[in-house]
Amino acid sequence: MKVTFLGTGTSQGIPFIGCQCSVCTSIDKKDNRLRSSVWVETPEASIIIDSGPDFRYQMLRAKVRKIDAIIFTHGHKDHIAGLDDIRPYNFHDNKPIEVYATEETQQALRREYQYIFSNITYPGIPQISLNTINASDTFTVKGLDIQPISVLHYKMEVLGFRIGNFSYITDANYIAPKELLKVKGSEAFVVNALRHEPHISHYTLKEAIEVAKTAEVKETYFTHISHQLGLHADVESRLPDGMHLSYDGLTLHL
Ligand SMILES: [Zn+2]
Ligand SMILES: [Zn+2]
Ligand SMILES: [Zn+2]
Repeated sequence: MKVTFLGTGTSQGIPFIGCQCSVCTSIDKKDNRLRSSVWVETPEASIIIDSGPDFRYQMLRAKVRKIDAIIFTHGHKDHIAGLDDIRPYNFHDNKPIEVYATEETQQALRREYQYIFSNITYPGIPQISLNTINASDTFTVKGLDIQPISVLHYKMEVLGFRIGNFSYITDANYIAPKELLKVKGSEAFVVNALRHEPHISHYTLKEAIEVAKTAEVKETYFTHISHQLGLHADVESRLPDGMHLSYDGLTLHL
């Protein structure tokens, strides 16, 4: 399995427009972060988790030729805003894109993209085929098992996913012990770490490190990062063994 980090930034991305801080003006490419998304490739399937506002550029940058499914973690704009740009895949494959989302996330998609779901259709609109998932049931994409992990983003349920030895959790500030058990034994575990100061709906770096310590995984990668976290190289050098800051373009072979 190959995992490519397409974006590792929080909802505003880095640089934050108009900001002159050391991170936003850094010349280290690892300090540039598009909105969070990953691409999971296995012999069976090519899967994108979340299609945020940078989706089009992410597909071009990583040269994603084929998508078997887009899986959504939740309905916040920084995770769904790029869905309109699946149209080239519809065109090349001449079929809808399979989309996997909970009922709650589907409500956000219907709100945001009423023209996709409207009875009045016209040529060239995105074509998607909706598959309903829930936190407790493993589902399958092209024979590949995907186990949802239910986490809390303040009061909102967000889904993480375990795919083989890879576990991905973004936008969380609470994971129940029984849900964290689902990531146990992962070779690579991704979890969000926004910044140092407390936040109402995201883990701080310190909190994310604590989660990683109890998760019983081999390597942990932090994502959904704000410019307030600091320079990539500085933060990375101070992390405990087996923990890393992710960065755009990082690939893992699992
Ligand atoms: Zn987010
Ligand atoms: Zn900044
Ligand atoms: Zn969110």
